[in-house]
Amino acid sequence: MSKIIVAIDGYSSCGKSTLAKAMAKQLHYAYLDSGAMYRAVTLYFMNNGVDYQVPEAVESALANISIHFERINGENCTFLNGENVERAIRDMRVSDLVSPVSTISAVRRAMVRQQQSMGRRRGIVADGRDIGTVVFPDAELKIFLTADIDVRTSRRHLELAAKGIDANWDEIHHNLQERDRIDSTRDDSPLRRAEDAVIIDNTLLSEQQQLAKAMGLANERISG
Ligand code: C5P
Repeated sequence: MSKIIVAIDGYSSCGKSTLAKAMAKQLHYAYLDSGAMYRAVTLYFMNNGVDYQVPEAVESALANISIHFERINGENCTFLNGENVERAIRDMRVSDLVSPVSTISAVRRAMVRQQQSMGRRRGIVADGRDIGTVVFPDAELKIFLTADIDVRTSRRHLELAAKGIDANWDEIHHNLQERDRIDSTRDDSPLRRAEDAVIIDNTLLSEQQQLAKAMGLANERISG
């Protein structure tokens, strides 16, 4: 059976990664967390005092950054220069800086190049902000996820608490709003729905209902 690319885009904390991981598992496809890559770059900039507004500093830092993913005990883990940074990249300090860093074209070019090479053989479910518009414009299935901001904040709050990361509800709410604003208004690859993307509003959907809907669409595309 031929393999497809599933592109999932949408606002922050809409459940994109939950859906993408579940679909990848059911389809036996690879999962690509593109946001983790932007977060890893941001963490590197923070730890190495790289000013993202200085183009030369960004270019030379990018040359020293290597990102890859590994599955450890069933978990998708992000590695930055050989170090597992899966937990560190979810920290609020990274969340506060990642959207400004993601506006930089040099950063985007480097990430998109790597993401496209990961999808060369198809059989991939990728989530992010520009997957259906820029990274895989020829994806067979594009989904644009959306949900109410208060519901998203509460989900994120629970998710961080489950990981033992302490964050306050208002702080998360503000962070999501800010990221959505920056991500949607940047010049390079702004977050927007691809014309051929299917919108799923999951405010009132359970994870299972959302997955069933998305898998129905994927199976339609796979069987042609
Ligand atoms: O998906 P996640 O919320 O972890 O992404 C963190 C940030 O990375 C987003 O708010 C956005 O600024 C940036 N990002 C992006 N393009 C992508 C994925 C993420 O600009 N494809």
